[in-house]
Amino acid sequence: KVSIFWFRRDLRLDDNTGLYYANNQEKNILPLFIFDRNILDKLEDKKDARVSFIHSQICRLSEELTSYGSSLMVKYGNPIEIWQTLLDEYDIQTVYTNRDYEPYARERDEMVRKLLQERNIQFLDFKDQVIFEKDEIVNGSGEFYKVFTPYSKNWLEKFKNTKIQMLSLDKKRNQFLRMAHIEIPSLEEMGFQKSDIEIPPLQIDRPLIQKYDQVRNFPSIKGTTRLGIHLRFGTISVRKLALEAYKLNETYLNELIWREFYMMILYHNPQVVDKAFKPQYDHIPWRNNEEDFKKWCEGQTGYPIVDAGMRELNATGFMHNRVRMIVASFLTKHLLIDWRWGEAYFAKKLLDYELASNNGGWQWAAGTGTDAQPYFRVFNPDSQTEKFDKELKYIKKWVPEYSTLAYPKPMVDHKFARERAIETYKKALNS
Ligand code: FAD
Repeated sequence: KVSIFWFRRDLRLDDNTGLYYANNQEKNILPLFIFDRNILDKLEDKKDARVSFIHSQICRLSEELTSYGSSLMVKYGNPIEIWQTLLDEYDIQTVYTNRDYEPYARERDEMVRKLLQERNIQFLDFKDQVIFEKDEIVNGSGEFYKVFTPYSKNWLEKFKNTKIQMLSLDKKRNQFLRMAHIEIPSLEEMGFQKSDIEIPPLQIDRPLIQKYDQVRNFPSIKGTTRLGIHLRFGTISVRKLALEAYKLNETYLNELIWREFYMMILYHNPQVVDKAFKPQYDHIPWRNNEEDFKKWCEGQTGYPIVDAGMRELNATGFMHNRVRMIVASFLTKHLLIDWRWGEAYFAKKLLDYELASNNGGWQWAAGTGTDAQPYFRVFNPDSQTEKFDKELKYIKKWVPEYSTLAYPKPMVDHKFARERAIETYKKALNS
C-alpha cells in the first residue's frame, strides 16, 4: 500500500503542511506532481516563463527526493484521468494535499475527492498557502469581510495571538517510498520551450524589508521583494515570510495580508472571476476600442509612465505595484476598456500572476471591487510621475525615446478622459 502526496502550488519539502502530516501519519509516501493539461493547453505562449519555472522547480524537487532515497512521480494530462489510472495501478491508502482556493482547483479537487471516496480512500487537504483561510477571519456577526482595513486589523490581532509553527521534515525519518529515479517529461514533450525570462531569486532580503515602507513606492529602485512568483508556486513558505515580516516591517506584513484578503474574497465570491464585485458596476458601457487596447498593451499610449510599465511587463514579466495601479486606472478610466481585458493581459504576462490578487487589483483600479474607492478618483499619470518617478529614471529606462519626436502624442487628453470616465460611471450607476 502507498499513500500519495500531491504537490500543486507548494513546491517545497520544508514547512509544507500536508507533506509534514503525511510523513507523520503514513508509510510509503509516493510524491506526485501533475502538469495539468486543462491549464497548460490554454496558454498561448509556448515559451511561457511560468511553465519553465515550474518545470525547473519540479526537477529540483525530484533531485531533493532522490537524496531522500525516493523520487517524484510526474504526470502530464488531465488530472481526473490521471487519478483514474493511478487508482488502477496502485493500492492507495490515503491521499494528502494542500488546499487551493481558486474555483477551478476547488472543482477539480471535489471530483478527485469523489473518485477516491468511491474506493473508500480518504482525500486529506490542509491549509498551507495562507496564514488564515476561508472563515478564520470574520466580523463580530461571523460574516466574511468585504472591506480590507477591518479585515487586516482582525488578521493582525489573530496573528499576534497564534503560535505560527514551522513544520520541518525530518530527513532521516522520512516516510517516502523508496524507489529509483522516475523520468520527468521534458518541456518539449509537453509542447513548451524554455523561456529566457529571468526569475527573481528566492531570498528574503531583510535589509530591504526593513525599509520597505520608505522605498516600496518608487519603481526606479528595487524597493519590493519580487517574491510574488515564489509565493504563487509555494517555493517559499508564507509562514516563514510572515514571521520575518512581523519582526522587520509591519507595512510589508500588511501586503501579505492583502494577498490573503483577496484569496478570502475569491473563495467566498467565486463569481468575481468574471463579474464586478459590486454588481451595479456591470452596467458600465465600456468603449472597448481594440486599437486603443493594442496601444496600451504595447506601451504606445503617449503617457510615459503608462508605457514604461507596459514595456517593463512585456520585457520582464514584472511590473511595479505603483505602476500596475497607474496602468490599470488608465485602461479602465482613461480608455474605458473593460477591466477584464486588462486582467486577462496581466494573467498572460505576469510571473507572479495570482488569480485572486490580479482580480482584486483590477477591480480596485476600476472601482468595481471591494473597498469604497470612489469612482470619480481617476489617477493622473503626470502627477503620479511627479510623485513617484520625479527624476524620470524609470521612464528613461523603459521609454528612452520619450522626449523625442519618435514618441507618440498622448492618445487621449487627460482632462477630457477624466470627465468622460466620471460621466460614464455616473450614468451607469444611476441607471
Ligand atoms: P512586494 O511588495 O515585495 O510584496 C510581497 C508580497 O506581498 C507580494 O509578492 C504579494 O504576494 C503580496 N502583495 C503585495 N502587494 C499586494 C497586493 N496589493 N495585493 C495582493 N498581494 C500583494 N499580485 C500578485 O501576486 N499577483 C497578481 O497577479 C497581481 N496582479 C495585480 C494587478 C493589479 C492591477 C494591481 C494593482 C496589483 C496586482 N498585484 C498582484 C499586487 C502587487 O502589485 C504585487 O503583488 C506586487 O507588485 C508583486 O511584487 P513583489 O513580489 O515585489 O511584492
